[in-house]
Amino acid sequence: MDFDAVVIGSGLGGCAAGAAMAGSGKKVLVLEKTDSVGGRCSTSEINGFQMDTGSHVIWRSSYGPFREALKRVNKQNDVGFHQLQNMMFKVGEVPLKFNIREVFDTMDKHIPGILNMSSRMLKVTAPSMTRVMDRLAAHYDNVTIQEFLSRFTDNLPIHNMIDWVSFILYGTPYGETPAGELIRTMSQASEPMAEGLADREIFLGYVKGGLIQFPKALCTGIEEHGGEVRTGVTVNNIIVKNGKVAGVQTNDGEIIKADLIFSNAGIKETVKYLVGEEHFDREYAEKIRSLRPGCCGWCLRLALDKPVFNYDMVMSVPEKDTQEYYKHMWTQHEVPDGLPAIMATSPSRMDPSLAPEGKQSVIVIAPVTFDPRENWSKWEQKALDSIEYAVPGIKDHIMWHDFLTPGTYLVYGEDNAPAIGLAQCMGQAGADRPSSISPIKGLYYVGAEAGKNDSGVATEIATQSGLNAADHVLRHEKGAPVSHRIRERVLASRSI
Ligand SMILES: Cc1cc2nc3c(=O)[nH]c(=O)nc-3n(C[C@H](O)[C@H](O)[C@H](O)COP(=O)(O)OP(=O)(O)OC[C@H]3O[C@@H](n4cnc5c(N)ncnc54)[C@H](O)[C@@H]3O)c2cc1C
Repeated sequence: MDFDAVVIGSGLGGCAAGAAMAGSGKKVLVLEKTDSVGGRCSTSEINGFQMDTGSHVIWRSSYGPFREALKRVNKQNDVGFHQLQNMMFKVGEVPLKFNIREVFDTMDKHIPGILNMSSRMLKVTAPSMTRVMDRLAAHYDNVTIQEFLSRFTDNLPIHNMIDWVSFILYGTPYGETPAGELIRTMSQASEPMAEGLADREIFLGYVKGGLIQFPKALCTGIEEHGGEVRTGVTVNNIIVKNGKVAGVQTNDGEIIKADLIFSNAGIKETVKYLVGEEHFDREYAEKIRSLRPGCCGWCLRLALDKPVFNYDMVMSVPEKDTQEYYKHMWTQHEVPDGLPAIMATSPSRMDPSLAPEGKQSVIVIAPVTFDPRENWSKWEQKALDSIEYAVPGIKDHIMWHDFLTPGTYLVYGEDNAPAIGLAQCMGQAGADRPSSISPIKGLYYVGAEAGKNDSGVATEIATQSGLNAADHVLRHEKGAPVSHRIRERVLASRSI
């Protein structure tokens, strides 16, 4: 064999799987079809600004799977995180502005010692809280977030906000997302919350130096552990012999032999194009074909002539009834009237090295359906109007902007360019998510499209799926250390 494992694609799932394998002494080859690593989680230089592919906020930042993936190749000290501090939530006309550290300082001033006590208490209780919440979540996989919320309140602004959050976190409206998924996401936050309280910060974070630093560090780690990362190489097909993978063929005809393949190219794309449906039984192929992608997203990137955006993150929900707005957008594929809800971050506020001195970068995103007939110039204007609505006066400071439509993300190879990956909707979340283990021996799917029992937020679910798939392989290989085999028995009930 040329390599112990070939990874198709350097998105976060691919990089994490590659890092876990390389860190365990396996010879890994990562093949990436674009010129840069990171897939949808990347950064490029434009006119002196380092611009990310989206306004990425990392749910648990240094407390979650990012840190674990980096550790596998000893890169945990190479990537820094900025914990979000200054925020504004604007639901309707009323902005709620706060600085997390100031909020915590004020709490501690009024009730001295409260933070330390809460942190210690949470640290002790978090593991059992997580277990209880995870069990509870399973009961709510048949109930939508909308139904769940309606049991407690019919307050419209709260419903609007949660509907929007569901789109941002899971790529689906809250009327289609299981409440269990939200409970699991919250449960993941209990341990980071305990850690963060002690340092007077929250777990939400941003990767210093731009998003690309994370996949880049993993790829460097893979190379330092004897692996190879080749960009600009497309895998055209996965070679299958007698029900097992035998290697891959690239666009320039090279055949690379390997009996282990991690595909980060998307589960549908892998089955349909890279392997070919004829290698799977009909029922499985149909099931994969019927999987629903999550919503797409647009992204407005602003280069400002001076720092006028005073927040790390802004969430703005302008319309009185966003549910109507989203229903219109989701079902009728039209540009709805009114302004979209947005999330905006300023990477250069969190890391000044990302913009020329005295200037500022701001990135705005919103969910959207993908229809090539969509009137994108109308959407672009809406994007500009919505950030002006959230932060009045910002338009006067725009030196230049660009607008990424869902079509921009098609380069990463999805059928219709979802922003996150698979929709985490009813029937596709938690235990109902498609397994990373394919019916073909040696083939695993990684990324935000597969991983039974994986839950949570986009970049993290992608990273976790890569780690889980690699760990599964390592635990099952012949001659795995006894400790692995014991752990395997413990984990036997948890399939990936
Ligand atoms: C605008 C926007 C904003 C977002 N905001 C957030 C956020 O705030 N927080 C968050 O957590 N997530 C966010 N996300 C989602 C997040 O970026 C994705 O869910 C995550 O990066 C997906 O990772 P993945 O492992 O599935 O790989 P992908 O990013 O899909 O990467 C797959 C890689 O495989 C390569 N590839 C595909 N086919 C082949 C082939 N045949 N041969 C070789 N290479 C191939 C592609 O080029 C690509 O590099 C956002 C996404 C967008 C678009």
